[in-house]
Amino acid sequence: MADVALEKNASVGKMWTKEKKIGEGTYATVFEGREVATGRKIAIKKIKLGQFKDGISLDAIREIKFLRELRHENVIELLSVYSAKANINLVLEFCQTDLEYLIKNKTLLFLPGDVKSWMQMTLRGLEFCHRNGVLHRDLKPNNLFITSEGVLKVADFGLAREFGDGSMKMTPEVITTWYRPPELLFGARAYSSSVDIWSVGCIFAELMLRVPFFAGASNLDQLKIMYSAMGSPTEAEWPNLKTLPDYVQLDFVPRKPWHLHFSAASPDAITMLKGFLAYNPNKRVSAKEALLNPYFHTSPYPTHPSKLPLPTPGTGVARILAPELNGQGQKHVLKDKKRKKGVDEDDEEDGEGSGTKKVARKLTFG
Ligand code: ADP
Repeated sequence: MADVALEKNASVGKMWTKEKKIGEGTYATVFEGREVATGRKIAIKKIKLGQFKDGISLDAIREIKFLRELRHENVIELLSVYSAKANINLVLEFCQTDLEYLIKNKTLLFLPGDVKSWMQMTLRGLEFCHRNGVLHRDLKPNNLFITSEGVLKVADFGLAREFGDGSMKMTPEVITTWYRPPELLFGARAYSSSVDIWSVGCIFAELMLRVPFFAGASNLDQLKIMYSAMGSPTEAEWPNLKTLPDYVQLDFVPRKPWHLHFSAASPDAITMLKGFLAYNPNKRVSAKEALLNPYFHTSPYPTHPSKLPLPTPGTGVARILAPELNGQGQKHVLKDKKRKKGVDEDDEEDGEGSGTKKVARKLTFG
């Protein structure tokens, strides 16, 4: 029986070739490769073994588990998993770039319809995850991959997990700080899909501003920046606020009109943004509701993916992130030790924090 399994595994491995190295992730080295039968480009994520006490990082297990279950146009596709020479390899559809790179590449002009299109694709992918009971818990522009056809794919499910009725206890130490919602900054352990929606709001703001909207250096700094941009949350709008485990009283900041920050945004865009960035998680719009919002159904309509701005391969806009393009966000990730320390109460024995240091990456998308 074991021989049959080994043979099958070896034959699966032969379906793909590994060519050059294109990236270095938290728990894997990523290669560009090809499907032997068709010649189509693919990405192979070779999981680093041995550096974790139980052999394989929990991030890798999560990624395999969720990507095997989720199949959607706007979720990165896991084509195969095979082992070779004591390594585990994930075969993924190949992507050309990611949204962080596009945002930082100031040679690319974004039209309002382009922003709408990226937002719509993000929400479609996310709505599918939420409908299937999966929280992403690490949405940010560099986890939104873009194919050479301009299609956006939600990627990196290393911090994802199932969620239920909202009573389940989970770690608040998830989501990169700049995209982390106020309830997690205040230590909430029971939370829901609305945490991902806050991240979507931060991404939306960043697409309009071309810089991160709330770029705090710590949890407290993050809250202060949020308050100074949007005003303090009130108990009238968020009655349970003060009962959160790590609640801290900060100086009161009065509300500010949104158009101060987003002077070029349409009223529809502002309404949409307010729906994502509601302080009270229960008042945040869901992915499903957002997709029905007039913002997506009025002119200018979402740009067709094939018409979205993309750096053209081989024309000098290299996919290798130059230091000036790769500055703040990447440094932030490196500094943000907690980013990969997320350990849910029911996951604690997995020691997810151990050894999952984020490494600096070169992004080389062919
Ligand atoms: P991390 O664990 O740091 O989130 P990943 O392991 O997902 O990062 O990927 C590391 C790098 O490998 C990415 O930044 C990108 O350069 C490259 N990469 C990952 N997946 C793909 C893919 N499907 N297509 C093309 N390049 C990819």
